[in-house]
Amino acid sequence: MKPDLFEAPDYYNLDELLTDEHKLVRDAAREWVKRDVSPIIEEYAQKAEFPKQIIGGLAEIGAFGPYIPMEYGGAGLDQISYGLIMQEIERGDSGVRSTASVQSSLVMYPIWKYGNEAQRNKYLPKLASGEWIGSFGLTEPDHGSNPGGMTTNFKDMGDHYLLNGAKMWISNAPFCEIAVVWAKNEEGRIHGLIVERGMEGFSTPETHNKWSLRASATGELIFDNVKIPKENLLPNKSGLGAPLGCLDSARYGIAWGAIGAAMDCYDTALRYSKERMQFGKPIGQFQLQQKKLAEMITEITKAQLLAWRLGVMRENGTATSAQISMAKRNNVDMAINIAREARQMLGGMGITGEYSIMRHSMNLESVITYEGTHDIHLLITGLDVTGLNAFK
Ligand SMILES: Cc1cc2nc3c(=O)[nH]c(=O)nc-3n(C[C@H](O)[C@H](O)[C@H](O)COP(=O)(O)OP(=O)(O)OC[C@H]3O[C@@H](n4cnc5c(N)ncnc54)[C@H](O)[C@@H]3O)c2cc1C
Repeated sequence: MKPDLFEAPDYYNLDELLTDEHKLVRDAAREWVKRDVSPIIEEYAQKAEFPKQIIGGLAEIGAFGPYIPMEYGGAGLDQISYGLIMQEIERGDSGVRSTASVQSSLVMYPIWKYGNEAQRNKYLPKLASGEWIGSFGLTEPDHGSNPGGMTTNFKDMGDHYLLNGAKMWISNAPFCEIAVVWAKNEEGRIHGLIVERGMEGFSTPETHNKWSLRASATGELIFDNVKIPKENLLPNKSGLGAPLGCLDSARYGIAWGAIGAAMDCYDTALRYSKERMQFGKPIGQFQLQQKKLAEMITEITKAQLLAWRLGVMRENGTATSAQISMAKRNNVDMAINIAREARQMLGGMGITGEYSIMRHSMNLESVITYEGTHDIHLLITGLDVTGLNAFK
């Protein structure tokens, strides 16, 4: 793979909206990606393996629990810093960002928000340091966009719960130490349970043959009469709103992360357009190529503004789930379109692993599907503006 020469586009001087701390956090993540991710990521994506050696680095840049309070090992940062870290990591690879998103927003967040003090103290510091990697089990083979229909269930056996069922498409599953699993009790109410590796009847087979997010490990979570200690139930929130609250946090991070992937594709195409000569000119001199680049930087700038404003609203507690849906949908769609256009600008070279664009392009096919598909987020916006529910 070519050396990482990335220069971040900032067409509207958005740096002026950031504090010194934001810039420090962002620049540290950017440098780390250049040093520790870019040189190895293509090889790991090609062999479909998560590069476990970067876990310590992810923890050091604050990617595991950026906004979790420091008393629990988190970085204690604000929502904009969280977004910027996700942007920089996904600039390197969406699969690596997925690992960080799951750990922070889907595992640490529910333990912090819905757990008790004993659970916070037991799990959060080890997750923040990367000693333990977690996974989040919501999706099932027959319940993806409609997680409320889940059949994974647990029964109260007096001194413990008995968990049965299966989860599918679970990021980090093959090597997770713990899983936050959403299951129905005997009354059909959804609760979160912390399942630990080593519990009898719990297995995590890996999903193979993915053409997307190849540097992220995906698998199943299978529960065959797993005895769960009662203290592993998250006590402070139940119902579908509990997992959806986690998804709000993760989707917000994705809205920023997608900008990173788009920036990398744009920057690569821009540089290539000035170097690649055809018909005696750099291809960047042709109007058709300039149109592509002009549209890319316009869309990136709009997405940056959307993410920044959403971050401010997240920070002051006013962002709605529907506003988060809009940003996730728009920004991932923006990134996937830019990856496609950028790939074309590189001609044949664009399909090789010499450049990052094809990998981003394939990764974004997962990003546009997970955490609510493109169409589901559109329906959420539709419901929000009309008050009419297309899901029913
Ligand atoms: C690489 C990867 C990693 C993932 N990681 C995790 C994870 O860590 N944890 C986890 O719990 N899940 C995870 N997922 C699962 C992901 O969230 C689901 O794939 C996603 O929610 C879609 O569900 P589905 O694949 O079952 O598609 P389906 O729900 O079957 O949807 C198929 C199509 O039908 C459309 N559709 C569905 N319902 C409607 C409707 N009412 N109106 C109009 N169109 C509709 C969808 O938009 C989609 O286009 C991951 C997925 C992938 C690919």
